[in-house]
Amino acid sequence: MDLIPQPKSKFLKVKCPECSHEMIIFNHAKTLITCQGEDCEHIIAEPAGGKAYIEAEILEELD
Ligand SMILES: [Zn+2]
Repeated sequence: MDLIPQPKSKFLKVKCPECSHEMIIFNHAKTLITCQGEDCEHIIAEPAGGKAYIEAEILEELD
């Protein structure tokens, strides 16, 4: 049995808490992801050593 949890890479459907724009992002993003909504530059995900730190509402996890 493998005791080390393998970080699963998947895509997440997220919603910007500021403008409600919905977008698909990669949960292991290696670059800063900002909102793609109009006139919105809210940070959605920040790289945090492997898994990205998500700063948005996760609506759905897509495999
Ligand atoms: Zn936004």
